[in-house]
Amino acid sequence: MTPANLLEYDLDGLAAYCEKLGEKRFRATQLFRWIHQKGAADFSAMSDLAKSLRDKLAGIAEIRPLEIISEQASTDGTIKWLFDVGGGNAVETVFIPETDRGTLCVSSQAGCAVGCRFCSTGHQGFSRNLTTGEIIAQLWFAEHHLRRRLGLAAGERAITNVVMMGMGEPLQNYNALVPALRMMLDDHGYGLSRRRVTVSTSGVVPMIDRLRVDCPVALAVSLHAPVDPLRDDLVPLNRKYPIAELLEACERYLEAAPRDFITFEYCMLDGVNDLPEHARALVKISQQVSCKFNLIPFNPFPESGLKRSPRERVSAFAQVLLDAGVVTTVRKTRGDDIDAACGQLAGEVQDRTNAAKRMTRAPIRVHRSPSDADPAPFTPPEENRP
Ligand code: SF4
Repeated sequence: MTPANLLEYDLDGLAAYCEKLGEKRFRATQLFRWIHQKGAADFSAMSDLAKSLRDKLAGIAEIRPLEIISEQASTDGTIKWLFDVGGGNAVETVFIPETDRGTLCVSSQAGCAVGCRFCSTGHQGFSRNLTTGEIIAQLWFAEHHLRRRLGLAAGERAITNVVMMGMGEPLQNYNALVPALRMMLDDHGYGLSRRRVTVSTSGVVPMIDRLRVDCPVALAVSLHAPVDPLRDDLVPLNRKYPIAELLEACERYLEAAPRDFITFEYCMLDGVNDLPEHARALVKISQQVSCKFNLIPFNPFPESGLKRSPRERVSAFAQVLLDAGVVTTVRKTRGDDIDAACGQLAGEVQDRTNAAKRMTRAPIRVHRSPSDADPAPFTPPEENRP
């Protein structure tokens, strides 16, 4: 029988597992702290755990890390790991150090079924959901590996923030995601504040509502277009959950959110969604939902047929928002030289969805505002045409 992987259990789950072994909850808490706070993978090293429990666990349970395929370090300090998750699939995890924090970008799926036009992962298609243990194993490894590597003192953290912005749509893997989030927040685990754990979604409306009740953490929404026809093209999930429904879900989420705003991610695509009329339409959105905008320079890849917006256009776009009093930042690209920047995570995916074929289709048409009767067709810039 395959040993149980204890990384799969949040504290309640581990308590239930220990109860089946005839052990009290405080034993599960001790075990949980050894695993997540101290990074122990060997029961014999858990010195204050009753020897009888250590003996019971040996052979029937284990702490099973992900197998590392590669580690790449950028000149700016960003580190990207590629982890083998079996079946020919591999997922990527990225550590982004800054002076006042260390952020880990975590994957939730091998591939992604949403198929956003500007996203490398989306172009690879979808293989499978990660388990809770595979999601938390990325944090478990990165935190304890970096603590050793950076020589941090006991109690010092390497990772202060987690963003569920790696490969996959986390809210399409909800049942595995929520226990992993609870482990990140648990004071016996990683003890991160709700404000420092962010779930990023392309807009799975019913699951935004569930997350608000089950585990409200900071929420980022991949918006990328201010009007439905354009968003239908860029983020196909919009056809199911259009912008009006998404904004209403965001308003409801704010009732329980640890921050009083939603972060809207907006990938700047040359000639597609970066015109002043798009910015003005975003100002209207900001009047409905308390939000801030994070403008993301697009990281081009050949299959997308898209191009990064020129710097001056990004500045002009940001200025429209700022002039209207909307908090707006332009994301610094990090880890560009190791393909670790936003939208570049590709891993390895045994696609079960024929995504590449599905995504090779007519060029995007630009829809500037709902009143545009006859929008001009968007033609990919010359050098990016397939
Ligand atoms: S941007 Fe997110 S939701 Fe869209 S395809 Fe990429 S991973 Fe999936």
